[in-house]
Amino acid sequence: MLATANAHKSEEMRAVLAELGVELLARPEGVGDVEEGESTLEGNALLKARALVAATGLAAIADDTGLFVEALEGRPGVHSARYAREGATYDENVSKLLHELADVPAPRRGATFRTVIAVAYPSGETRCVEGVLEGRITVARRGENGFGYDPVFAPTSGGGRTLAELSTPEKNATSHRARALRALLAALEASS
Ligand code: IMP
Repeated sequence: MLATANAHKSEEMRAVLAELGVELLARPEGVGDVEEGESTLEGNALLKARALVAATGLAAIADDTGLFVEALEGRPGVHSARYAREGATYDENVSKLLHELADVPAPRRGATFRTVIAVAYPSGETRCVEGVLEGRITVARRGENGFGYDPVFAPTSGGGRTLAELSTPEKNATSHRARALRALLAALEASS
């Protein structure tokens, strides 16, 4: 069971897990969003996974992702979804990021996407894994695919393209979320 109502994220996770032979059940209707009130990705992912276990009695996974920009001392980080303001659109957040980095030269535009996935069981047992993707923030938006900060994040492994210029299978092969999912499956296999 997956604790997200974000269609982009659940599509990516479903696609990666399907390749690995795992089927993901959608969050049941009537189970609402959990306020992401913790100060770390781990804290928020655990909060969401535990809430879903409490509501359903089934094992659950939840993820939390942040973009950590070196020149901004790690901001927006855990606040990536509400960087421009509470309830901000993706476009508003990207505009704020480009504005804040307007005077920052290319060598100092390094950034990291970090995804933490928490798994929680009805027994109360939990565990967290993470996936990381290194890259740079571009000076302008490029590409139409993906969501969020994808148009301005060029992964080191992407040959200069932004995540929004990669096809969905290309993004899913290397993204921070895909890496976290693979780490999750490795951890689950090791403990079974
Ligand atoms: P969340 O808390 O995991 O939903 O992620 C926080 C914010 O990070 C989202 O609102 C997006 O703006 C951004 N984000 C998360 N994952 C990605 C991604 O794969 N690409 C681009 N932006 C992302």
